[in-house]
Amino acid sequence: MIGALRSAGPAVLLLACALLLPFTGNDYWAVIATRAAIYWTLVSGLNLAVGFGGQLAIGYVALLTMGAYTSSILVARWDINPFIALIAAGAVGAVSGVVVGLPALRLRTFYFAMTTLGFATIVTQIALAWQSVTGGGIGLPGPTMPAPFDSAWGFYSLTLGIATLCTWMTSNIARSRFGRSLVAIRDAEVAAEASGISKPALLITVFLFSGATAAVAGGLFATLQSYITPDAFTFDLSVLFFIAILIGGRGSILGPLLGTILLTVLPEFAAPLVAWSTFLYAALLLVIVLAMPGGIHALLDFRNRKPLESNRAIVPRPALLTELLDHGNAETSIVLSGVVLSFGGVRAIDGLDLRIQPGQVHGLIGPNGSGKTTTLNVISGFNAPESGDVTLGAISLPRGQPRTRAGLGIARTFQTPRLIGEASVLQNVMIGGTVDGRATFAEALLTLPRHRAEERTATTKAMRALRVVGLETLAAVRADRLQHSELRFMEIARSLMSHPRFLLLDEPAAGLSPEEIKRLGQLIVAIARRGTGVLLVEHHADLIFDICDHITVLNLGKELAGGTPASIRAHKEVVSAYLGA
Ligand code: ADP
Ligand code: MG
Repeated sequence: MIGALRSAGPAVLLLACALLLPFTGNDYWAVIATRAAIYWTLVSGLNLAVGFGGQLAIGYVALLTMGAYTSSILVARWDINPFIALIAAGAVGAVSGVVVGLPALRLRTFYFAMTTLGFATIVTQIALAWQSVTGGGIGLPGPTMPAPFDSAWGFYSLTLGIATLCTWMTSNIARSRFGRSLVAIRDAEVAAEASGISKPALLITVFLFSGATAAVAGGLFATLQSYITPDAFTFDLSVLFFIAILIGGRGSILGPLLGTILLTVLPEFAAPLVAWSTFLYAALLLVIVLAMPGGIHALLDFRNRKPLESNRAIVPRPALLTELLDHGNAETSIVLSGVVLSFGGVRAIDGLDLRIQPGQVHGLIGPNGSGKTTTLNVISGFNAPESGDVTLGAISLPRGQPRTRAGLGIARTFQTPRLIGEASVLQNVMIGGTVDGRATFAEALLTLPRHRAEERTATTKAMRALRVVGLETLAAVRADRLQHSELRFMEIARSLMSHPRFLLLDEPAAGLSPEEIKRLGQLIVAIARRGTGVLLVEHHADLIFDICDHITVLNLGKELAGGTPASIRAHKEVVSAYLGA
């Protein structure tokens, strides 16, 4: 509650200023403030795709154009009510948003950015060429709003209302599992996939929403302009929207909001500079990128500037696992049979059979490059084997589809921790519980009861997972401020969020102190005693021999030996080839 108040505080303050603005009685300011509200309506939606999802959607002026023309044409040619025209514009924008966004599923960064620019060019060309409808270069009048929205301040209050609604909705999304998932696909795509997040479904929904808000902004823009021609929709506008998000800071609502206000108001203070606006934006962007890469958001993030306590010790509490995991009498195993996988000429796995049993710690050891990580990748779906099968009980695990694993109860950590650096530790952990979410995007947008209940449950569970691994005091800290060893435990907390029936750990002890390794060992054993099957890839022989129920030794992708720790210790070839004692 206090957290919510603190995060909403600046926005409420801004809204109060916006509400006081009409008392200045200056109509010139009404126009500028209206423009800022309209731009923010567009930027708020775009911010989810760009700032949260990390998608370089640059040509968003296209959607503003489409919204402006849709509402203007409906009102001017068919005499439709301006509000209904605005809703129709939103619908057209939603569909177009998906069309603009679809290439993002296949194309990366700059290639996607180019397609959005191409789309903007096409829309302008159509507006120019389709004279009978759009009026071509001559243009057409924008819709006039009925009273009381027909005066400068009346229209301002309408746009302010819509902009406030958009701010509220997008902050709801930002705080929901959708917002967390967007940031996850931006910063840690593999971790997102392992947590069962569907990038295509998520991005399409976000592009649909941002397309709708952009087109509604376009409809309002047409009213503000009172007359629209294709040259009102310049490339500069696209740049403004995009840069407002960059200088505002990624993954924030308040930052881009302030960025939008800044970029709208700035040229007014320096009227002679208007002709230089593109140059100014570019210069401003350079300054931001060089001087404060996190943007306005990072500048205002006082909480994360407080120094953290040094000499922090991680003390997991395995006893608390009872609240998180219970697969007491599980009987299903993961079975690999005859798995073969090569990279080019290298046979990374060469006919491997493996059985990972519930309730046991199964060690997987072997020299570097012997195929341990690749084995984990095959089980978790990141690599598709050429032949052989991986089954979970009666289910044959779909090859090469990592997204399916979380739902089946298979969780993993990574040899290099995959973290969302700019999100809090708590949010990082909550990513692991994404598959539990049932509330839809629309429910999150409006914070309906089911969504709120799920958020509460997920937060409670994540705090529990953090207490289990001993990181609860760092819950609110940005993950990129953690030490390496803490990140390893954070990944375990994240994987515990999905009540895993099987947990695959890739060198969890790497970089840990001897004391931490001992505690890690106790935690892993406790997890297995709750009925979860653990596959443990490790180099620390002590840990392996201490806690494993069964050990498989790999060499060149083949099983060199398998058995109890005692039998492996006595195995001649293993000792000479690997243990080196
Ligand atoms: P380990 O985890 O046991 O150290 P890996 O499973 O990472 O070993 O690698 C096994 C072999 O497969 C190595 O020879 C490695 O170079 C190769 N390999 C792993 N991943 C790839 C990849 N994506 N592309 C090409 N070769 C790979
Ligand atoms: Mg490895």
